[in-house]
This record gives sequence, structure tokens and C-alpha cells, in this order.
Amino acid sequence: MSATAGETHEFRAEIRKLLDIITHSIYTNREIFLRELVSNASDALDKLRFEQSRGTTVADPDAPLEIRITTDKEAGRITIADTGCGMTRDELIDHLGTIAKSGTEAFMRSVADNKDAASNLIGRFGVGFYSVFMVADKVAVTSRSFAPDAAAARWISDGSGSFTVEDVEGDVPRGASIEITLKEEAKEYADPERIKAVLRTHSNFISFPILVDGEKT
Ligand code: ADP
Ligand code: MG
Repeated sequence: MSATAGETHEFRAEIRKLLDIITHSIYTNREIFLRELVSNASDALDKLRFEQSRGTTVADPDAPLEIRITTDKEAGRITIADTGCGMTRDELIDHLGTIAKSGTEAFMRSVADNKDAASNLIGRFGVGFYSVFMVADKVAVTSRSFAPDAAAARWISDGSGSFTVEDVEGDVPRGASIEITLKEEAKEYADPERIKAVLRTHSNFISFPILVDGEKT
């Protein structure tokens, strides 16, 4: 796999504000970042399955519909990969940084007076993906859309003002892979036992297989 030089994009202004709150003001219940990412993976798998059921030709048609979480304790990293619908380069830019999120304003109003509840509000207001920056120093999303001829791309950010996108050459499987470099104070999430416990608490009703370091949970 190789990548072209990245192109830098600014986050939309209100997303920047949201990220600032997520990165600097939320200290409790950070484990729900995993619920948000697993729920996005599950949505993407649902979408892929729907396309397949209506006869759409998809890339990697035989790839099993599943979610794979891998941990790397030494590097302080965790990766959440799915074989769902994936995103094109343009979709990465739109969905992870540019398009307004309907719940953001309401979320920020609610958080203003109650910081402790912020982590609970994240799921409800649909600011899902960005919750990853409660635990991440850096996030890389590598993705290939289900469209058979789609090129792969990668989105990278540290959750401050901007993100970069680049094309990725070579063998990228269908779906999305979210690689998280954990903050020093969130290294506990590089432990597979901790991950399994969080999955049991928050992702019990996901209908696709979830594997942690290759093992079914
Ligand atoms: P929501 O899930 O409420 O739409 P999120 O912030 O969780 O909001 O995700 C934003 C968007 O990013 C999703 O709607 C989807 O289009 C895209 N997305 C996020 N994760 C994935 C993924 N694993 N595969 C494909 N698309 C994704
Ligand atoms: Mg979501």
C-alpha cells in the first residue's frame, strides 16, 4: 500500500467547535467512542447488504460481513475495520468534516451547562464519529467504497482544525478501517479484555460478527 501526498481540508466551523469540546472537556464515560464506531460499522454493513440484496454489483462480493477490532498494546493503537459500504475520497471529505451535523448546535447548547453529561449526549445528538477524539491523538480512516471501480483513500486528523486526504494505491479491501493512536491517558483501550468488556456493555445487540484480535466475541 502506498499513498500520494495529502491534501489539507479545514473542518467546518461548528465541527471544529464540537471537536474542541470533545477533545478538551470530556473526561467521563469515554468508552462510548467504541459504541459509536461499531454502530457506524454496523450501519455500513447494513447498507452493503441492502445493495447486494437488490442485485448491485459490489467490490469483494465474497468478503464476510463482519467487524474486526485489532489491538496493539505496544504501539498504543486500536483498529476497527468493517467490510461495509465504505467511502470514496469525496465521501470521506463530506461525511467526516464538511457536511453540517444536524444535532451539533443542540449538543453544544446542552453541554455548555453540564460537562459531565456530554459523553451521554454524544450518542443522542448524532455526533458519533467525532467522539473518537475523546481517546485519540490521531485517527486514520482508510476506505474503499463498494463500487467495484472505486479508488481507495485515506483521511487523517488529530482532531484540531484540519484533516488531510490522500489516495491509496494497492490492495485495500472493501469497507472502512479506522486506526486510532490512543492518547496517553486512554491506553487502556489497547487491551483486548477491556475492549471486550466495553463491547459487552455497549454493543451487545449488533447483528454482525465482531472479532477482537481474530477471536469471535
Ligand atoms: P451518523 O452515524 O449519525 O450518520 P457519524 O458521525 O457517526 O454520524 O458518522 C458520519 C457519517 O460518516 C455516517 O453517516 C457515514 O456516512 C460515514 N461513516 C462513518 N463511519 C463509516 C464506516 N465505517 N463506513 C462507511 N461510512 C461511514
Ligand atoms: Mg454514527
